Amino acid sequence: MAELFLLSSNSQLQEELLSVVKAIKGYVLNQESLAVGLEWGKKSPLSPPIENLTGNKEVELEKVYQEMKTCHLCPLGKTRRNLVFGAGNPSARIVFVGEAPGADEDEQGLPFVGRAGQLLTKIIEAMGLKRKDVYICNILKCRPPGNRNPLPNEIGLCEPFLKKQLQIISPQVICALGTFAAQTLLKTDIPITMLRGRFHSYEGIKLMPTYHPAYLLRNPSAKKLVWEDVQMIIREVPV
Ligand code: SF4
Repeated sequence: MAELFLLSSNSQLQEELLSVVKAIKGYVLNQESLAVGLEWGKKSPLSPPIENLTGNKEVELEKVYQEMKTCHLCPLGKTRRNLVFGAGNPSARIVFVGEAPGADEDEQGLPFVGRAGQLLTKIIEAMGLKRKDVYICNILKCRPPGNRNPLPNEIGLCEPFLKKQLQIISPQVICALGTFAAQTLLKTDIPITMLRGRFHSYEGIKLMPTYHPAYLLRNPSAKKLVWEDVQMIIREVPV
């Protein structure tokens, strides 16, 4: 009996050790990918340049919008009320990227206009900026029913539109809001708690992951950590 208990403890221990090793391996690989080939200011060779860039970012963003405004690539095209492309300054130095539109955003066709959006506005204003100074968008452009989490196939189909937006705007800093935005952009499954608090690199652009404003509404004590993160952004992009 004692042996059986010992056996099960050992296998449990082995499983735990394996998951720790996997987590460390993922973390190290992520660090290596940041160090190798993704230095600040260098565009990833994986990013094909957008053709026919006019040099006018507003015009280029409008082209992307026109290309996708009736998108039905994934099933969310059927259930959305409005596609939420993104809003703000096409030449913004800071771009905030969230997860997906919620009910209010779906209703109005604008990003971050609900309660979480109002909190994001407060954060932006506390940074000494206005919403019109930055650009705000999401990984997914259409609302997942019932605000469920985005599915991998939806992310895979929608992400190219975001890539084009970011390539056109070419900001100095991207602030990824929440787990999905951070993990999707950084191609990692490292939890947001470990990702936040330091800059990463997305296609040569500095990326700061932080908590989603909706999370802050449920966990106000995390506001302090978000403030620390956005202060690092302010230092990087003085207003
Ligand atoms: S979520 Fe993205 S890929 Fe899916 S229908 Fe909307 S715009 Fe198209």
